[in-house]
Amino acid sequence: MEWIYYIIEPIYLLAALLFILALRAMSNPATARRGIVWAGFGMLLAVASTVLIPATLPASSTLEMNFVLMAIAVAVGGAIAYYAAIKVQMTNMPQMVAIYNGMGGGAAAGIAAVDLMLGGWPANMYSPLDIVGGLIGSISFAGSLVAFLKLQGWMTQKPVTFPGQNVVNLVILFLAALFGAFFLAQPGFLSGIPVSFLILFFVFGLLYGLFMTLPIGGADMPVVISLYNALTGMAVGIDGFALNNYAMIIAGVIVGAAGSLLTLLMAKAMNRSISNVLFSAFGSKEESGATIQGSMKPTDPDDVAVMLAYAAKVIIAPGYGMAVAQAQGKVKEMTDILEAKGVSVKFGIHPVAGRMPGHMNVLLAEAGVSYDKLFDIDEINPEFATTDVAMVIGANDTVNPAAHRQGSPLFGMPILEVEQAHNVVVLKRGQGKGFAGIENDLFYRDNCKMLYGDAQDSLGKVIQALKKL
Ligand code: NDP
Repeated sequence: MEWIYYIIEPIYLLAALLFILALRAMSNPATARRGIVWAGFGMLLAVASTVLIPATLPASSTLEMNFVLMAIAVAVGGAIAYYAAIKVQMTNMPQMVAIYNGMGGGAAAGIAAVDLMLGGWPANMYSPLDIVGGLIGSISFAGSLVAFLKLQGWMTQKPVTFPGQNVVNLVILFLAALFGAFFLAQPGFLSGIPVSFLILFFVFGLLYGLFMTLPIGGADMPVVISLYNALTGMAVGIDGFALNNYAMIIAGVIVGAAGSLLTLLMAKAMNRSISNVLFSAFGSKEESGATIQGSMKPTDPDDVAVMLAYAAKVIIAPGYGMAVAQAQGKVKEMTDILEAKGVSVKFGIHPVAGRMPGHMNVLLAEAGVSYDKLFDIDEINPEFATTDVAMVIGANDTVNPAAHRQGSPLFGMPILEVEQAHNVVVLKRGQGKGFAGIENDLFYRDNCKMLYGDAQDSLGKVIQALKKL
């Protein structure tokens, strides 16, 4: 059956090529959809050719049974994924990404477990790789599930902390590593059943993922989601080395590298180190000593329309609320009207605005807002001081000046400096706080007016008023 590899390996190479091209296409909203299709096709090729590997199909009576089991797994998994993808709301995408990350990590841990159990004893040269892949995979699996529960709002989004937490976490990680090492050294040491050390190893690996994610919350969630993305990729890549499977190695390395870069970018966007994110329980302490002066001043769509129509320069700061309201179409319509009146309109995009990296870019691209109108935080911040109107559409944490105040849980996070504009209009439904749960004193500033209501609805009214001017 060795000849079969002459078919499988070129297919793996083709799949790997598709993954790389897909990732490149995904770096631009205009080509991202194409990238997703290529990646899916690459995955289909990789899975289909893996089925041909002789070891997957033992030449025995179990052959038919194997096929049946694999077909059932693919059908059930495919049907659930298809249904979930069709049904998922755009605002729930981050949870979906988190849970799929977790599934990848869980699959990597499962593959490592099977390889370790089938590998027999004494451990072979690949077993340590399986232990590392299994540990990273199970951490990613359990951690991503906690991230899913937090993002879905099925558990508190605040950090869960207790005294001595970092020490407890270290002990759990140490025990996982210890049981992994015991299994490699002598699987039957305690009970005589080789599997028992393996079970303890995975139990502590999973516990570590759980405990590592509990204290992370608030505005640090984007960092942790991309971190688990990176870990899942690494686990798959390491399993690939253990199994000598090129498709897994390449796919895992690509995801691991892309996820690591994204993690660093997200941490930089929050102006925090990875260790600070992991060990300092962001937002667990309430702000001390800050009292907000002033009051929130409501306005109406007619006043906002006049303010916008007579402005020379407008900057829009979109946030999660724009995604909830699905207001991007109205944003584009309003932008076109203002530009026709000679107003310069730009967009300030905060890297963690919304609930997933690139969330605002995707929504605005979908609505047809030209990419060259979108500016990142460093480019746009110097412009606010010369801006007539900064319009905040469903953003909160990403425009919260509390980030400048020592003692605030947001302290140090770069924000869009909308408060420096001559006038600020904030579109939100009511007094709701942002994701980090911190009061926003921007809303109380003298130059800030609140246009209450669902953002799509409010923008519709502003557009009507603009058309009458
Ligand atoms: P926030 O989540 O801080 O605030 C969103 C605001 O939108 C709320 O204050 C809410 O106020 C308002 N809102 C909700 N629904 C509507 C609606 N239908 N119409 C109008 N307004 C609405 O948003 P930001 O984008 O500023 O910040 C993102 C936060 O999410 C950051 O803390 C970030 O760290 C975190 N995060 C980001 C991830 C990412 O990858 N980008 C991932 C996970 C978390 P009200 O209820 O009064 O309407």
